[in-house]
Amino acid sequence: MNKPLIAITGASSGIGAAFARLFSQAGHPLLLMARRVDQLEALQLPNALCKAVDVTDLEALQSAVAEAETQYGPIDCLINNAGCMLLGQLDKQDPAEWRRMYDVNVLGLLNGVNAVLPAMRERQGGTIMNVSSIAGRKTFPNHAAYCGTKFAVHAMGENLREEVAADSVRVITIAPGAVETELLSHTTDAEIIAGYEAWKESMGSVLVPEDIARAALFAYQQPQHVCIRELVIAATKQE
Ligand code: NDP
Repeated sequence: MNKPLIAITGASSGIGAAFARLFSQAGHPLLLMARRVDQLEALQLPNALCKAVDVTDLEALQSAVAEAETQYGPIDCLINNAGCMLLGQLDKQDPAEWRRMYDVNVLGLLNGVNAVLPAMRERQGGTIMNVSSIAGRKTFPNHAAYCGTKFAVHAMGENLREEVAADSVRVITIAPGAVETELLSHTTDAEIIAGYEAWKESMGSVLVPEDIARAALFAYQQPQHVCIRELVIAATKQE
């Protein structure tokens, strides 16, 4: 039997690319979205529709979803993974950085939900996985704005889960600890980057993206009546 379609935002690098590889290995067709479509195509995965989608653009998301569903059938799982982390001190940071994080991590995630939820409710089934962070459960130095976005992801996901439970739609929050990806490279304060790198080194090693993808696939593969509401995954040595 054909496996259902999985949609992933931010699949062009890091954790999102690992989700793409693992769900593809499990036999699923994919809708892969990010701004760097060349990097989506470079994954060279079979049955994968690669679309240049900025998650802050609701219409672009909706049209990618419609195109993928015409090709592969209904989306059974959306992984809202696209995100950015611009660490900074609130008295020094350029407010444009806060806005970008809220636009992508919070409003972009809501756009993803908007693009798939009506059809999932109609079909009485489906899964939405929201990638939050351990920074969505506890605070860290220089993370005030980023933590705000990720606490919001936890809150929105849990609220949504309650609202759609009766329609058999699962909402799962994934909260990774430190993972080796491009994420930190977008922070503009060199001192903060150096401090973060030193913190990672103090743990010996952090996670790799595949560690998160395995956990997500495990949660997805549970029977539809089982909802793993939250997955918190961190390096054993992370406090
Ligand atoms: P990366 O920087 O490697 O990946 C981020 C992804 O998000 C890229 O594919 C990027 O694609 C995409 N993205 C960013 N902005 C947009 C946008 N406006 N529209 C569409 N896609 C966008 O970092 P990670 O893999 O680490 O991050 C993935 C998720 O995991 C994020 O939500 C992050 O907050 C979360 N996370 C990461 C942790 C870590 O330690 N790495 C820890 C906890 C959570 P493109 O630039 O091509 O658009």
